[in-house]
Amino acid sequence: IEQQLLGPQEIRELADVLGIRPTKTLGQNFVIDPNTIRRIIATANIDSDETVLEVGPGLGSLTLGILDAARDMVAVEIDPPLAQQLPATIAKFRPGSEARIDVVLNDAMRVMELPKTPTALVANLPYNVAVPVLIHLLGQFPSIDHALVMVQDEVADRLAAKPGSKIYGVPSVKANWFCEVSKAGVIGTNVFWPAPKIKSGLVAFKRRPELLSDVPREDVFAIIDAAFAQRRKTLRAALGGWASSSARAGEILEASGIDPTLRGEKLDIHDFVKIAEAAHDFPS
Ligand code: SAM
Repeated sequence: IEQQLLGPQEIRELADVLGIRPTKTLGQNFVIDPNTIRRIIATANIDSDETVLEVGPGLGSLTLGILDAARDMVAVEIDPPLAQQLPATIAKFRPGSEARIDVVLNDAMRVMELPKTPTALVANLPYNVAVPVLIHLLGQFPSIDHALVMVQDEVADRLAAKPGSKIYGVPSVKANWFCEVSKAGVIGTNVFWPAPKIKSGLVAFKRRPELLSDVPREDVFAIIDAAFAQRRKTLRAALGGWASSSARAGEILEASGIDPTLRGEKLDIHDFVKIAEAAHDFPS
C-alpha cells in the first residue's frame, strides 16, 4: 500500500506547529503536491539499497518519498527549526523509519563530511544557491553516482545546455566534468507553498565512470571561469590573464589543437580538458 505523502493541509499544519514563515533568502518553497513527489521519485531511479543525500528537506515532503524508495538517507538542512522538526515528522508519518535517516544541520555549499556515504543526490534545491551547492557536492562526494534535482527552469536549461547555445556557460561545463546531464521535466508553480513566480525544472545527472583527466579539477575549472568571464572575446584574449599573456594563451591553445579565435561558448568539457593538459606540459 502506498504511504501518505504531505499535502497542503499537512504542510500548513507543520508550519503552524513550528510557527515558521517560509523565507525567500533560504529559497523556502515547500512542495504540497504528492503527485509531484511521486514524479520526482520515479524520475530519480533510486535503488532500494541506496543511501540518498537530500539537500534542504524543509518540512519533509520529498524526504518521505525518498525514505519509501531508498535504504537510508542523509538530509542536510541549514535552517535549525526545520532540521530539529524533521525526526518528529518522520516518526509521525513513517513510524520506525527515524533510524534510517541522519539529519545534519549544515550549509550544503560547505559541508565537508557526512555520517554516511551517499550513492545518490535527490533534492528540491534552494534556488538562489542551486548551482554552487550542486558543484560542491559532486566534487566533495565522489560516491554520488547519480542525481535528480529540481531547480528554476531556466537554471535547469542552463545546466543541460550544449556548446554553442546562448545559455551554455560555466554551470553546464562544470557539471559535465563530473556527469552526463539531461533535462528531465518541467514543474508548474502551483505545486509549491508559497508558489514561486517562475516554473521549475528537473535535471538528471549520471556520474562519468572515470575521471576525464588526471589534471586537477581546479586547473580545468580556472580555464572555464576565465573563458566565460569574457564570453564575447576570443579564447586567446579571454585566457590572456590566466596564461599571463594572450601570446602565451595562443601558444597553449595551438598546442592543444583548439582554434584560438574561437569563443569559449563553442567548447565542450573535453576541449577545456585538452587546454588544461597542454598547459600542464607547457613551459612558463
Ligand atoms: N525539500 C523541501 C520540499 O521539497 O518541500 C524544501 C525545499 S526548499 C526549495 C529548499 C530547502 O533548502 C529549505 O528547507 C531551506 O531551508 C534549505 N536550504 C536553503 N539553503 C540551504 C543550504 N545552503 N544548505 C542546506 N539547506 C539549505
